[in-house]
Amino acid sequence: MRIPGWLHFLAVGFPSANVIATSDGSRVIFDSGFGSDTSRIEDALATAGIGITDVELVVNTHWHSDHVGVNTRLRDVHGIAVAAAREDAQAINSRRADACLSAWLDQPVERYHVDHALEAGQTLRAGPSEWEVVPTPGHTPHHLSFYEPQERLLVLGDAIHADDVGWLNLALDGPAAIDVALDTVARLSRLAVRTALPGHGGPILDPPAVFAAAHARYERMRADPQRAGWHACKRIFAFALMIRDGIPLDDVDTYLARQPWLVDHASKMFDTDAETLAADLLAEMRRTRAVEERGGRLHVRTPHHPPARDWLAGSPRRDWLHEFIPSG
Ligand SMILES: [Zn+2]
Repeated sequence: MRIPGWLHFLAVGFPSANVIATSDGSRVIFDSGFGSDTSRIEDALATAGIGITDVELVVNTHWHSDHVGVNTRLRDVHGIAVAAAREDAQAINSRRADACLSAWLDQPVERYHVDHALEAGQTLRAGPSEWEVVPTPGHTPHHLSFYEPQERLLVLGDAIHADDVGWLNLALDGPAAIDVALDTVARLSRLAVRTALPGHGGPILDPPAVFAAAHARYERMRADPQRAGWHACKRIFAFALMIRDGIPLDDVDTYLARQPWLVDHASKMFDTDAETLAADLLAEMRRTRAVEERGGRLHVRTPHHPPARDWLAGSPRRDWLHEFIPSG
C-alpha cells in the first residue's frame, strides 16, 4: 500500500492546504488549513476517525495562511501544541510585522504561538514512526518537509506539488531563491521517497518523475526570472479571489494596484508600475480562463470553498496584523 493506514491524507480543497494526520501512536497533524475552513477540517479529521482531543501536535511546513489558519483554534480550544521552523517561530512569537507575510499577501492569519522550534536533521515522532526534519527552502526561506524512512513517506508542504512547483518570492527573497529551490529539489531527489504528500492536489506516486519536472521548471525560471514572478502573481491573485468569494468587477484594478505583493513585483521583477502590471495580470488571467465573471464579481475558476461573506470582516482577533509591533 502506498499510504499506510495510520497516515490520513485529508484533501479538504482550497482555500485550505491538505491536512495530513497520523494515528496509531503519536497523533500529529501536518498543517492545519485556512481559518475559514475550521469546521470542514474538524469534520475531515472526525471522518478519518481521528479524535481531535487525542492529537498532540500540529507541525507546520511553513507559515502561509492556508497552512497555519487553524493553529489557534487547535491550540486554544483543544490544547494541541504547535511546532514550526525555528526562524519562523521566532518571528511569529515576537509578532514581527512580516510574520506569515500576512500583510504583504493580504491573507488574514489568526494570531498564534509556536511551542516547539524545529531544526534541520532533528526527528519527531508521528504515528508509529520517527520523521526527519528536512529543510526545503525556496517557496519560503524556512520551509520544512518531513521524511519517514520506513515507509519512505515525505510530507512536502508547498515545496513541490504533483503538477506544479511552489511559487517563489523573488520580489522579497531575491533571484537567489531559484538556486535555493533547485538545491531543495536536489536534496529531495536524494531521499528514497516512495510516496510524497504535497500541500495541494493529490499524492505524488512517482516522486523521481515529479522531482525531475520540478527541476526543469525551476531551470526555466532561472533562465527567465520573470517566469517566476508571473507564476507567483497568478497564484497570489487566484488565492485573493478565493478568500474574498470574488472581487466586484469595478474594484479589481484598484484592489490589485494597492497590494504590496503586486507593487513589489512591478518594481522589482517587471520594471513597471503597479497599474500596468495589474492590467497585464488581469488580461492574462482572463485570456487563460483562470477567472470568470459571475454576479458582477470576478471569480477564480479553480474549485474552492469560499468563506462566508462576513468572515474576512470578522472579529479583530482573527486579523493579528492590527496587533503587530512594527519591526521598524
Ligand atoms: Zn505556501
